Amino acid sequence: MTHDSLTVVTASPAETKAVAAALAPELLPGDTISLSGDLGAGKTVFVQGLASGLGVTEPVTSPTFTIVHEYDGHYPVLHLDVYRLGSFQEVIDLGFDELSDPTAILVVEWGEAVAPLLPPKHLAVEIRLAGPSVDGPGERLLTFGPRGGQWPGRLEHMRRRAEELLASQGGSVPGETRWAVASRHPGREDEGGIDVNQET
Ligand code: ADP
Ligand code: MG
Repeated sequence: MTHDSLTVVTASPAETKAVAAALAPELLPGDTISLSGDLGAGKTVFVQGLASGLGVTEPVTSPTFTIVHEYDGHYPVLHLDVYRLGSFQEVIDLGFDELSDPTAILVVEWGEAVAPLLPPKHLAVEIRLAGPSVDGPGERLLTFGPRGGQWPGRLEHMRRRAEELLASQGGSVPGETRWAVASRHPGREDEGGIDVNQET
């Protein structure tokens, strides 16, 4: 089952961290988040915000050389970066024959490279450069693609929490243009997708 994806524009690393931190309260052990996007897109920045939202106090760095970092927050957080791995077999050899852990929150950078090993129910987050600036502050598009499970409702909670956080940071992107929904079933929005324009 597919759902609408939700896209948000962030104008700085701090904003990306705020959106990720707003997702954190929705997460429970057993959840998997797959991050995709080019080198330097902001995947690790996203994990930093997510980890801090999960109560992790130690520094979060890219586990490019060690493949996996484990942090202790409200729950264990496993942070993988499979960029340097050449094949599924290497991931399997490392003991990740299945990228899920019911006791931890699992976040995988370059998750699309090991898609067949991911649990069918997961959240896919894609980060793309949105502005001309690649170095330093710049705009990013973060697209949240629910893959099964209860993600649409959780993303709606994330959006509301993120709006408050971004407003308190004095966000430079107007609220109306910051968020967008893309339906994967145009014309069939009545099938349970989220509508971010709907006020309650
Ligand atoms: P990745 O893990 O995807 O390779 P990193 O998170 O390590 O990328 O690096 C992202 C880089 O982009 C950092 O230097 C960060 O400061 C910069 N950056 C600029 N704008 C943003 C933004 N809106 N969100 C996230 N990172 C940003
Ligand atoms: Mg990284």
